[in-house]
Amino acid sequence: MSKKDKIKLNELQIKTPKCESLDDGTFAFLNWMNCKSFVRKDDHYIHNPPLILKHVNFPYITLVKIFDRFLNSDVIVDIVDGIPLCKSCITDDCSHIGFTICLKQLIDREGFESNEEILK
Ligand SMILES: [Zn+2]
Repeated sequence: MSKKDKIKLNELQIKTPKCESLDDGTFAFLNWMNCKSFVRKDDHYIHNPPLILKHVNFPYITLVKIFDRFLNSDVIVDIVDGIPLCKSCITDDCSHIGFTICLKQLIDREGFESNEEILK
């Protein structure tokens, strides 16, 4: 690979909307709130956010499943004693954690008791 190609490749990687930090996750959550998509009718949905909520296990929120469009796979976040831990990144400060923290705050504030209520 030539040096020029390598630079090109780097530029492409920078442009890929990857969610990494807690802040990215917060932003992705706000993004998701604007459409509240549950990964459905994907083809017709042009504003799909980078992270999409798939499932929350009510009534005790100990697990949140998020679909990561960049990874193209589901990500599980465990919540133990109120502390989220990402099983995909094995960390507590990735974008999935940022998303989960925002989600939990919303659920606590609004008193949601089911996945359907979150989507309203
Ligand atoms: Zn993660």
